[in-house]
Amino acid sequence: MSSLFEKSISTLYGVGEKRSALFSRLGITTVGELLRFYPRTYEDFTTPVDINTLKAGDISCIKATLESPVVSTRISGGRLIAHGRVFDQTGFITITFFNNKYIDKMLVSGREYRFYGRVSSSRGGLEMVSPTFSDVEKDSSIHPIYHATSGLTSANIESAVKQALRLLPNEVGEPIPKFILDKYDLASLDFAIRKIHFPENSDELQRAMERLVFEELLVLSLGLRRLKSSKREETSVKLEKDYTDEFYSLLPFKPTKAQLRVTAECISDMIHATSPMNRLIQGDVGSGKTAVAAALCYTVIKNGWQAAFMAPTEILAQQHYEFLSRTLENTGIRVELLSGSVTPAKKRRLYQQLADGDIDLIVGTNAIISEGLEFHALGLAVTDEQHRFGVRQRAKLSSKGEKPHTLVMSATPIPRTLALIIYGDLDISVIDELPPGRKKVSTYLMRSQKRAAMYGFIKDYLDKGFQAFIVCPTVEENELNIASATEYYEKLRDKDFKNYTVGLLHGKMKTKDKDEIMRQFVSGEIQLLVSTTVIEVGVDVPNAVIMAVENAERFGFSQLHQLRGRVGRGGEKSFCFLISDAKGEDTLKRLKTMCRTSNGFEIADMDLKLRGPGDFFGSRQHGLPELHIADLANMEALTLAQKAADEIEHRPQGLMSDDCRYLRAEIRRLFGRVGAEGMN
Ligand code: ADP
Ligand code: MG
Repeated sequence: MSSLFEKSISTLYGVGEKRSALFSRLGITTVGELLRFYPRTYEDFTTPVDINTLKAGDISCIKATLESPVVSTRISGGRLIAHGRVFDQTGFITITFFNNKYIDKMLVSGREYRFYGRVSSSRGGLEMVSPTFSDVEKDSSIHPIYHATSGLTSANIESAVKQALRLLPNEVGEPIPKFILDKYDLASLDFAIRKIHFPENSDELQRAMERLVFEELLVLSLGLRRLKSSKREETSVKLEKDYTDEFYSLLPFKPTKAQLRVTAECISDMIHATSPMNRLIQGDVGSGKTAVAAALCYTVIKNGWQAAFMAPTEILAQQHYEFLSRTLENTGIRVELLSGSVTPAKKRRLYQQLADGDIDLIVGTNAIISEGLEFHALGLAVTDEQHRFGVRQRAKLSSKGEKPHTLVMSATPIPRTLALIIYGDLDISVIDELPPGRKKVSTYLMRSQKRAAMYGFIKDYLDKGFQAFIVCPTVEENELNIASATEYYEKLRDKDFKNYTVGLLHGKMKTKDKDEIMRQFVSGEIQLLVSTTVIEVGVDVPNAVIMAVENAERFGFSQLHQLRGRVGRGGEKSFCFLISDAKGEDTLKRLKTMCRTSNGFEIADMDLKLRGPGDFFGSRQHGLPELHIADLANMEALTLAQKAADEIEHRPQGLMSDDCRYLRAEIRRLFGRVGAEGMN
C-alpha cells in the first residue's frame, strides 16, 4: 500500500491534467491518497422499508412500483417539476423531481425500483424529493457518496476509486501489528479499504469503519507521543524552596482552595525535580488561572531562575503584564513586557537584559519565541490559552531554556480521554472552583426584533456607570466581517447610542490602535465597546456587566462561553444576551442550553459533539494531522486506541518492533503533512 502513495493519481485511466488538478483540490495527488479518501456518506439500497412506516424527515430506501408515467410540468421561473406515484404492499407515496428533462423516460410505469431519499410532508401526504433510484433487479448495494468539487462529481471519484482498488497489491502492508488486530478483533487493512468504498452490507461497512477509525486514532496517538517524548528528559531546573504562601500574601484576595491545590500540584512537580514539569491547568473562565501561574513564576524566580509568560494576544499580554508588575512591585523582581509593538531599540535592550539575566519575568505575545531571543536561565515557560498556540510554538518556547518546566493553561475544558490524546504526556490539573462572590451571568436568548428593548436595557446600565460589550460575529477576520462590525458601530455611535461613548475593536486594527481602545475601555472612557471576537480571550474589565452577542448562532458554544466570561467579573449582577433569528430547532435548543448552564465542561462537551474538536484546536494550527474518518468526540474509540498505543509501546522494542514497520510509515505520512519531525 505504501508504494501507492508514490503513484500519481494521473496514472489512472481517464485522469488527465485537468482532472488531476481537481483531485488535488480535494487533497488527493496519489493513488494511495485516493484510497484513503473515504466516502462522506452512503446511500443504502440494501434495506428497503415499508412505505407505511415512513415519516417526514427520514432518509430511507423503499422498494416500490411506479403506478403510472411520471408527469412533468413547468413552474414559475421556468423550472421543471415532475411528479409520480409509487406503491408497495403497504401504501403509496409521491416522488418528486426537479429540472430533470429525462425523468419520464428513465422511469417506466409498472416497473419496480429502489428509491432512496429524504421523505418530507407535502399537501395531504408524504413525498420523496429527488430520490436516487435503481432497478430492483440490478442493484441492491450500498453506494458511496464522496465529497465532490465543482467539475468532479461523486460518480467520477467512485470510478477512479474502482480502478485504484484494482491496483491494491495482494500483500497490503498492514500497519496494525497482528497481536493488536487479534486482540481488538479488527478487520485487515485490505478488507477495510475495499469495504469502506464498496460495502455489500451494513455489517461490512461497520467493520471497515471500526478498523479505520481505530487505525487513525492509534496513529495519531502514537505520533503525538513521539512528538512530545523529548520532554521526559532530565532537567537542571531543580527548585529548593516553595514560595507560594509568600506570593499569595501579595494579592488583594485570598486564593481559593482549588487554586491552592493546583499550585501545590505544580510545585511538587518542580521541587527537587529530575524531569521537567509538563502540566496543563484547566479551569473555567474566571477561575483565576493567572494567579496560579504567577505564584509559580514567583517561586521559580525566587529560586534563581527566569520565567516567561506567553499570551495569544497583545491585549492579554498587556493585561497580564499589568497584573504581574503591580503584584510584584515591591519584591525586587523585574517584570517586562515584550510585544510585537515595542520599538526596535527597546527590543534590543530587552533581548540584552534577558540574555544577561537582568529581567526575571518576561510577559509577551509570541514575540517571546522569536529567533535570537535568549534567556540567561529560563526555569519556567507558561503558555496561556494554549488552544491559540500550536504544539510547535509551545515547544519553541521551552527550547529557549535547558529543559525548563512548562505550564500551559486552558479555559476550554475538555474530557480527559481527549486531553490525553491531544496533550499526550501532559499532566493535568483542574481548577474546579470559582472565586467566591461570583454571580451567575443571567443569559437570555432573544430575537433581533427585541434589539431596541435591549439597547434600552444597556443604556440604563451605562447611565449607572457600568459598561457593556456588543460582539459581532467573525468566522475569520476577513474584510467582509470587519465591514459589518464597523457599520454596526457607526450606527450605534451616530444613532442609537449617540449620547454615549462607543468604541470599536477588531482584529485588523493596528496593535497600537487596539491597545488604545482597550485602554480607554478599561479606564471607563469608552462605555460601550463594539467588537469582533478579538476580545474573546481573557480580557478582564470588572466594570463591564453586559455582553450582547449578535448572530449568536454563528459562534461555537465554547466561544460564547468565553465571551460571556468577559462579564460577571466584578461583584455586580451581569447579563448576557444572545441575539439570534436562527430557525433550526437544534440550534435553538443548544442556545437555550447556553442560557441554562454556565458549566464549561458541559458546554465544551456540547461543542465537541456538535462541531468536533476543530473548534478548540483549529486542528492544523495545533499541529494535529487532519483526521479522515475518526472523530475525536468518539470517546470509546479514543480509549481503545490509547490502550492499544500503550500495549505497543510497552513491548520491549516498542514502536521499533519489526511488525510496526508499516505503522511507522503511516505515522510518518500523517505527521509529515503537518511538518512534524520525521521518525526512523
Ligand atoms: P482565568 O482563569 O479566566 O484566566 P483570571 O486569572 O483572569 O481568570 O481571573 C479572573 C479574575 O478573578 C481576575 O480579576 C482575578 O484577579 C480574580 N481572581 C482570581 N483569583 C481570585 C480569588 N481567589 N479571589 C478573588 N478574585 C480572584
Ligand atoms: Mg486567563
